[in-house]
Amino acid sequence: MTTNYDEVRHNLITMLEELDERLTTITHDVCHADEDVEKDSEEQATQNENNEVQDFLGNSARIEIAAIKQAIARIDAGDYDVCQTCGEAINPERLKAVPYSLQCIKCASLTQSIKV
Ligand SMILES: [Zn+2]
Repeated sequence: MTTNYDEVRHNLITMLEELDERLTTITHDVCHADEDVEKDSEEQATQNENNEVQDFLGNSARIEIAAIKQAIARIDAGDYDVCQTCGEAINPERLKAVPYSLQCIKCASLTQSIKV
């Protein structure tokens, strides 16, 4: 493994920090909304909807954070460009597009649920 992934690693850490910040904001908003739940049913419905959106954002941010942390660990372990499913090399173009890809395109297209 001679490829130097320092820059990728740096980018991943920056992404991680941004996501952490976003997640903190989302979590904070959810807590805040829980504190002053309006009794008016229309308001209540709106707040529930907001919470669902925030839950969704929170979950996708958490999935992304987990994937990025794994990618950083894989750079450190030296198997960053190895597909976690079939063990083949992941296309460098794909890693450029999605720097926290865990799988090659072939395997990723078989696992539609998570697009990383
Ligand atoms: Zn694969």
